[in-house]
Order: sequence, then C-alpha cells, then structure tokens
Amino acid sequence: MKKIDKPHDSGSASLCAASRNKKLRKTYPNLLRLGLRTERLAQHYDAAGGDPNIVRSNRISAKEKQAVLDLYESPPKGMGYIGELRDSLAGETCPMCGGYNPTELDHYLTKKKYPEYACVSYNLVPACSCNRMRGERLFDQVTHARVLHPYYDDCMVEPLIDLKFNPNDTPPLFTINYTISASNPNYNNVKFHVDNIVLRTNFLTHIGKRWGRLKAQPDAILPKHRDYRASRDEFHSYLIELSDGKSAETGPNSWAAIFFRSISRRSVSDWIFDNC
Ligand SMILES: [Zn+2]
Repeated sequence: MKKIDKPHDSGSASLCAASRNKKLRKTYPNLLRLGLRTERLAQHYDAAGGDPNIVRSNRISAKEKQAVLDLYESPPKGMGYIGELRDSLAGETCPMCGGYNPTELDHYLTKKKYPEYACVSYNLVPACSCNRMRGERLFDQVTHARVLHPYYDDCMVEPLIDLKFNPNDTPPLFTINYTISASNPNYNNVKFHVDNIVLRTNFLTHIGKRWGRLKAQPDAILPKHRDYRASRDEFHSYLIELSDGKSAETGPNSWAAIFFRSISRRSVSDWIFDNC
C-alpha cells in the first residue's frame, strides 16, 4: 500500500489525438466518440476520487465495450501513456499491496464491470501480481467500505498496520494490528483493503520467512546491530531508527516497513536483544 502521484492527465487527450489518425480510425471506428466520452468520464471520476459509491457503471453496448478493451490491450502508438504507467514504478513498492516490483496495471474500477474507464489513466494503478489475485473485489454495497485508491486516499501516507505476534512461538501466528484509529473515517476502507488486497497475497508468508531469517542470521537482517547492544533501551532505539529508515525509503506501508515496525514493538525488541 502506498500513496502515489496521480498521472498528469486522464489519457483522453491521447485518445482524441489518436482518433484523428485516419488509419487508426479504420481499426478502431469508435475512437473519436470514445475519446470525447472518456474526457467527460475522467472528469467525473477525478472529482469523485474513483469512489465506487459515487461513480456508477454506465451502460455501454457490447460493441463499444469490446472496442475499449481492445484499445487497452493493444493501444495504438499515440496512447503510449498506458505502457509508460505500467513501467513507471518497476523495482519499487506496490501501491496496492505494499509488495515489491509493480509491473502490471490494476484497473481500480474493474474493467469487467466498468469497461468505460478501462483507458482512463486515473483508473490505472501500477501493481504487482496482487492485481490478478484481487479479481472483481472493489467495495461492499452494504457497508460502503471499499479498496483504497493510491492516487486519492491520503491516509496511505500514514502507517496503517503492523503485526502482533509472540516471538516465543515457532512459527509465530501473525495478526494484523490496525495503527489507524477505529474512529478514523478511513478505518473501514483500510480494513477492507487489507482483507481483500493485502491478505490475498503471500504477505504473511513473506513476513514469516523474514522473521525466520532474522532468528537464524540476525546479521543479514539487522545491519550493525552488534554496535547497539549496551542495553535493551539502546537496542530498541536502534530498531526504531531502522524502522523509520525503511518507512522513509519504501513508504510506511511497504512489507519491509511493516516488518521492521512490527519487530520494533518493545516486547519483540527485548526478545531479539535476549535471544539473537
Ligand atoms: Zn501488489
């Protein structure tokens, strides 16, 4: 999970520009209509921050749906923004799940239900393979809780979760602890996002492996930790600093940042001090 900058424009201008190309219009006969329509839709989407409680799916013909999806799958030259967005965060934190190396595009409003938004850049979020595990999960029509949107949800700049566990257990059971207050208006969305995006990935397995590695080879996970062993307090300060560094480097809700925040809990910190 990571807040990222929204693309500068919606992509509709590229669509309109592409539609002026005669050759393209032969391949994609609905291009101009689509371009104009996309501009209007993108404005609505942007004003609503993509919120599925506000943005409704429009009824479009099967033919038009196919045309948009074809455009997305094989965008003409003028629509390079789709490929650029897909590559824009390679090697960085996945904005959707907090994992690593987002090289796919997640349609926030899913392209099956909202095909008219399939080429709107604001709806295209770089994501890792969590994109495929997410499927059609988007929001709960009863509670209105929804997946977080990395272009619009400012709450993602704060630490949202860490993990509680007992270091004496082998292997420990990791449970999600929400660091955002239950009275915060974003709380239900954060919880929905964690349940439907983050916990569908191998996040907990990854954390478990990292913890196992820390116990087996502390030097590999905790750089220079032997220099901070004068007392439990000193070691705890060292872990907090390491955790803050990870947050600054990869965002406060990357898997790495969540791991280091979790082992910085005082009980875990003391356990590592005594046992590793
Ligand atoms: Zn991901």
